Amino acid sequence: MSFDFLGLSDDLLSVVKKSGYTEPTPIQKKAIPSILQGRDILGIAQTGTGKTAGFTLPMIDILSQGRARARMPRSLILEPTRELATQVSESFEKYGEKSKLTMALLIGGVAFKDQEQKLDRGVDVLIATPGRLMDHMERGKVMLNGVEILVVDEADRMLDMGFIPDVEKICKAMPQKIQSLFFSATMPREIKRLTDQFLKDPKEIAVDAPASTAQTITQRLCKIKGGEKEKRAALRQLLKSGNVKNAIIFCNRKTVVKVVKKSLSVHGFNVGELHGDMAQSLRTETLAKFKNGDIQFLVASDVAARGLDIPDVSHVFNFEIPNNPEDYVHRIGRTGRAGREGHSFTLTSPSEKKSLGFLLKYLGKEIQIHPLPGQTAEPVAPPPENKQNQAPRAKKQPSKTGERNKAPRQPQKDQPVFGESDQVPAFLLRDEPGEKKSG
Ligand code: AMP
Repeated sequence: MSFDFLGLSDDLLSVVKKSGYTEPTPIQKKAIPSILQGRDILGIAQTGTGKTAGFTLPMIDILSQGRARARMPRSLILEPTRELATQVSESFEKYGEKSKLTMALLIGGVAFKDQEQKLDRGVDVLIATPGRLMDHMERGKVMLNGVEILVVDEADRMLDMGFIPDVEKICKAMPQKIQSLFFSATMPREIKRLTDQFLKDPKEIAVDAPASTAQTITQRLCKIKGGEKEKRAALRQLLKSGNVKNAIIFCNRKTVVKVVKKSLSVHGFNVGELHGDMAQSLRTETLAKFKNGDIQFLVASDVAARGLDIPDVSHVFNFEIPNNPEDYVHRIGRTGRAGREGHSFTLTSPSEKKSLGFLLKYLGKEIQIHPLPGQTAEPVAPPPENKQNQAPRAKKQPSKTGERNKAPRQPQKDQPVFGESDQVPAFLLRDEPGEKKSG
């Protein structure tokens, strides 16, 4: 099926063609005609499925009729992170190149003044993170009673980040008669409650994770004897071996991100870091440098895991098993995009046995072991079926006194001495308060 039969305008069809898309993805096939008909949508879809074009394309056509009034946006797109909001705004610019629609991006870390000036001129499309939007609403700088279309994207991510109360307040500030489009990779109870409350007879669309991701990504597990120090040594070994063109290295906590980044720099790697504590300008700059190849390796917290579309990442490394097994899929989905070959390696130490069990249960399959010199290579199987074995929606970080302190400081008998020169200053090894909310 081609794009021609979805009901999009000729202008948009030519933009789609220019983007090189020959066929709509499953979510686009199902969502675009319904959105054009004015229906509410409940889309169960991950990033990588083409969902952004799935809602932006029909929105551009719908909004092409009518004019924006000062401080009263005609549509609102809520995104959980600044990066995702920025990415959606880029999609709008790309797909909307032939339209005259005006757009504003309201994200944290950017001066209020510029954002207010844009709002004062009137915008057709407002893309925002919930925190910053609430700030503007409280200052009386934006009114939502002119909104015709509302998109809540990555709703389960909003939940993980504690944004649901804000999202609910924003939904309540909307006029009665709006078209609402909700997208979420999963449907936890809290999101179901929200969609039951705000969606009117929605068309429910569920699409699988993009098949190309699963098929083109090799997944390997490296069992590391020891703790973080031994993992850092193993990571260096992996980065130096094979064809690692560039890579994202995911850690669960920003403290670990900092330590791993510092350690790799000390060892001469061209490395940057990305986590929720950094100023927005620095986050944007780092991401741009990684995208254009100025930075080869990016050590990141999960703020970078979802939705970021960096087309050419050859490898993803999980320095730790993610707290939430779903994040594993999102993390490794940063490689192998658009049918390219991708590689992922997950480092795990004995203290992560439980998280590994949950992950394998969630995946429903083994991950092939990648033997490293001196490390064991016994097969890992998912734990037996067990009602209690539900993967947790982890919010709490692992114990602050956890892995590092428990890990043997001395190399074991049959283990090579990794990283003798891997001296990380003690202040970097101290834990800091948890990750801040983005937005
Ligand atoms: P998304 O799930 O919206 O983050 O999109 C993932 C990637 O798929 C982006 O790089 C899009 O440019 C690309 N994409 C979106 N729609 C299509 C399509 N119909 N054909 C090929 N690629 C697409």
